[in-house]
Amino acid sequence: MDITLLGSGEAVGVPAPLCGCRYCAQSPRRRRPSLLIETNQSTVVLDASPELKEQLHETGTTEVDAFCLTHHHYDHVGGLYELNHAAMGFDAHVGIEDEYIPADTFEDVEKPRDPEFSIYLTETALGHLTDSTPHLAEQLPLHTITHDDVLNIGDLRIVPFPVDHARSRFDTLGFAVYHNGKKLVYAPDMWEFMDDTEYKNADLLFVEGAALFRAFGHGEEPDLRAALTDADAERTILLNVNEHLQRMTTDELRRAAERDGYELSEDFETYNL
Ligand SMILES: [Zn+2]
Ligand SMILES: [Zn+2]
Repeated sequence: MDITLLGSGEAVGVPAPLCGCRYCAQSPRRRRPSLLIETNQSTVVLDASPELKEQLHETGTTEVDAFCLTHHHYDHVGGLYELNHAAMGFDAHVGIEDEYIPADTFEDVEKPRDPEFSIYLTETALGHLTDSTPHLAEQLPLHTITHDDVLNIGDLRIVPFPVDHARSRFDTLGFAVYHNGKKLVYAPDMWEFMDDTEYKNADLLFVEGAALFRAFGHGEEPDLRAALTDADAERTILLNVNEHLQRMTTDELRRAAERDGYELSEDFETYNL
């Protein structure tokens, strides 16, 4: 599987809003988190960052089978506003659907393809979406999942597992993605793993990293260190880092990560498993 990290940042991102500090000015941009996974048969995106439209155009991605959301926080679902435009379809956008303009205004061959995709999310995330933005909940192709489900999307096998999301605590998913005997794990917002052992022994682990660098992130440093050691991945890629909040340059963060045997993430970095 070909993997592209679409966003390596956390909720604030780099640069931070309305900030021109030297860390914001000098660091590479960190968009909010999403991960693109492609095989010959399937394209899946984990999380829907607020910058999703730009991120997917940057990678030339116009067909996605499924979006799988870890939880309902804005930095993981802000892209649903963009996907809503895609789900709405051409006829609704231009006014054919409600008969504001005649249906024969456009020849069929003139019209763009209406994208088709599915979105998987927890009951809790669906509840938040229904309360906060009912028009999105109504229009988007949503399917609820729990950590007891397994998603088979083309030749990808995706297994959601529970993680403990601090600030505050509610049901949050990580995802283990299997393809041709290889395993990728994605758990961006996480204090600790829970009983389910899906998080272990990944070839590639994309995971919360902020707490390693003098920030609370989603938990305390010793807990995160213990969790990463326990996960025992072949390669561990740290997400949720932020030069502006941690007051460290990218090089300082990279050196600190590498001292511990981990890798600092970067937007649009690619991996292959
Ligand atoms: Zn700043
Ligand atoms: Zn969160």
